[in-house]
Amino acid sequence: APRQEATSKIVLDLERLYDGAKEDLASVARYARAIQQQRGDYNGRVLSIRAVDLQALAVFYDCTPSELIERLADHGVLVADPRAFFAS
Ligand code: C2E
Ligand code: C2E
Ligand code: C2E
Repeated sequence: APRQEATSKIVLDLERLYDGAKEDLASVARYARAIQQQRGDYNGRVLSIRAVDLQALAVFYDCTPSELIERLADHGVLVADPRAFFAS
């Protein structure tokens, strides 16, 4: 079963996403940096992204949005519960 419903908020762990070892996610990382720039949101440990932006990225990765979510989850860059993330 998918670890995250398509309707729930997509929250990225930026430290893990920007980890240089994750070459497969280089384009997601570039996109996230662009979003941070557009919002002026530079100091966050996490980033909530728009569903439409996930769709655009899925086109780029030639997969469905839920497959891209699976891929992000496999790389450990999805935050399921941001509040629990900050509590830990
Ligand atoms: P915009 O789309 O005209 O949004 C203007 C402002 O409305 C945003 O300023 C933000 O305060 C708010 N806003 C718009 N959509 C949402 C939303 O779904 N949730 C929340 N919480 N607030 C929302 P902000 O954040 O300074 O962004 C400035 C501009 O940067 C946006 O103008 C948009 O053109 C672009 N941008 C920012 N973040 C994203 C993003 O995640 N994806 C895309 N495609 N563009 C973004
Ligand atoms: P926070 O900034 O103190 O926000 C606490 C809660 O207020 C959020 O819980 C959410 O329920 C609500 N909230 C804050 N800003 C918005 C908003 O723009 N739109 C809406 N609809 N609700 C908002 P949530 O989503 O579980 O996030 C928990 C924490 O995760 C946030 O605490 C913040 O520290 C972090 N976070 C989540 N998304 C982002 C992001 O895109 N950028 C940054 N810098 N931090 C984020
Ligand atoms: P959120 O702030 O809790 O917003 C949830 C959903 O409400 C958004 O899902 C979008 O469908 C709608 N929404 C909220 N504010 C606006 C708005 O100003 N204009 C429009 N057209 N729709 C709005 P979405 O787009 O999938 O975004 C998911 C989350 O990504 C947002 O949760 C927010 O945390 C973040 N986000 C998206 N766009 C922006 C943005 O421009 N600036 C900031 N700071 N955060 C954004």
